Amino acid sequence: MIIVLKPGIPRREEALVLKEIRKLGYKPHVMRGVARTVVGAIGDELTHQSLETLAMLFPNIVESVTPVQKRYKLVSREAHPQNSTIRVRDHVIGGKKFHVMAGPCSVEGESQLLKTAVAVKKAGATILRGGAFKPRTSPYEFQGLGERGLKLLAKARRETGLAVITELLSENHAELVAEYADIIQIGARNAQNFQLLIAAARTGKPVLLKRGLSMKIEEWLLAGEYVLANENCNLMFCERGIRTFETYTRNTLDLAAIPIVKNESHCPVVIDPSQGAGRADLVKALCKGAIAMGADALLVEVHPNPAEAWSDGVQQVSLEVFAQLMEELRPLIQVAGRD
Ligand code: PEP
Ligand code: MN
Repeated sequence: MIIVLKPGIPRREEALVLKEIRKLGYKPHVMRGVARTVVGAIGDELTHQSLETLAMLFPNIVESVTPVQKRYKLVSREAHPQNSTIRVRDHVIGGKKFHVMAGPCSVEGESQLLKTAVAVKKAGATILRGGAFKPRTSPYEFQGLGERGLKLLAKARRETGLAVITELLSENHAELVAEYADIIQIGARNAQNFQLLIAAARTGKPVLLKRGLSMKIEEWLLAGEYVLANENCNLMFCERGIRTFETYTRNTLDLAAIPIVKNESHCPVVIDPSQGAGRADLVKALCKGAIAMGADALLVEVHPNPAEAWSDGVQQVSLEVFAQLMEELRPLIQVAGRD
């Protein structure tokens, strides 16, 4: 912890702060500058009581208290300097191969799902996405097919060999969803639902954690920490846009989060350009940007007839556009040093 004292504090008052720092189990190192004094308090912030209360205890002496250690441990690169790789059936996410997860926002029926699965597989996707339990802003909108949707995803996997990612909305469904999913998606609205994160982690399946609508990167990393702290090291972070004042797009896709999270954490980073902008016409450019900035995978919404989709129609690309997109991404994936 770094404790900055206010200017012109007499030694007598400084000594009160140092005494309290020692009392709380830290060793103070005093650095006296021309204008003010800074104290470095050495000790393990994770096991000792926080020193942040010093600013409250001595409001006229202490100007600020700043932690030095990160609040997250297991997701941090310090804990695991190499990139983590996640095995999903025959695939490895976070390794040399760049993965594209693609499919409809919602599973709507057998022919819609199978048609999409066959087309995205042919275009080069390795993982099929599709929501069976849908987190809808309004209770009057399509809520997903539930278990029937999961069964259709399993059928599409049998017929195409694609692995399956689908969202877990409730702790009550953890076992059910894990029975069908190869990757469990935790949606933006539940990104800080810690009990749900623990339930997802305990299924033992890889977890894809979306960034919450208004979530700071530190909060996102800490939410991921819940998965690793519950004995599941197969975690990937998925940036899907955050809420800003901008109205041209549904969300603002924060591509800067890619190098930041890759620097802070060893976990793979996935980009969802579909929720990210809420506009099908921007998907291609955002995918290109994501590859250039170091993402490990994409999560793209694809529908055989976006105009008739039961959810998120304006942001889903057609089967034809997806095939073109994959063609255009191929050289970029190579330039980025991926397969
Ligand atoms: C989705 O993937 O369809 C979805 C609802 O995602 P998010 O949680 O990012 O809004
Ligand atoms: Mn969607």
